[in-house]
Amino acid sequence: MPEKIRVIVNEDRCYLCGGCAGVCPTLAIEVHASDWEFFQDRCIGCRICINACPVGALSAEPLGVKE
Ligand code: SF4
Ligand code: SF4
Repeated sequence: MPEKIRVIVNEDRCYLCGGCAGVCPTLAIEVHASDWEFFQDRCIGCRICINACPVGALSAEPLGVKE
């Protein structure tokens, strides 16, 4: 089981092409005309989206360490 992560978008780089949403196996990302949306409950931490973004706009933050 991959580490649980939160996927974060760099809005200065993202041009809302929808590529990440298209490759996510669990539909944990939705890209709309003016915003990028992440659904934590659906993400399985595979990082496919991070590798797929053509402009490197996505990064991962580890989850699970409670403060
Ligand atoms: S693939 Fe990258 S540029 Fe395209 S919508 Fe996703 S985060 Fe934005
Ligand atoms: S890490 Fe995998 S499951 Fe999570 S949003 Fe990216 S492609 Fe989807």
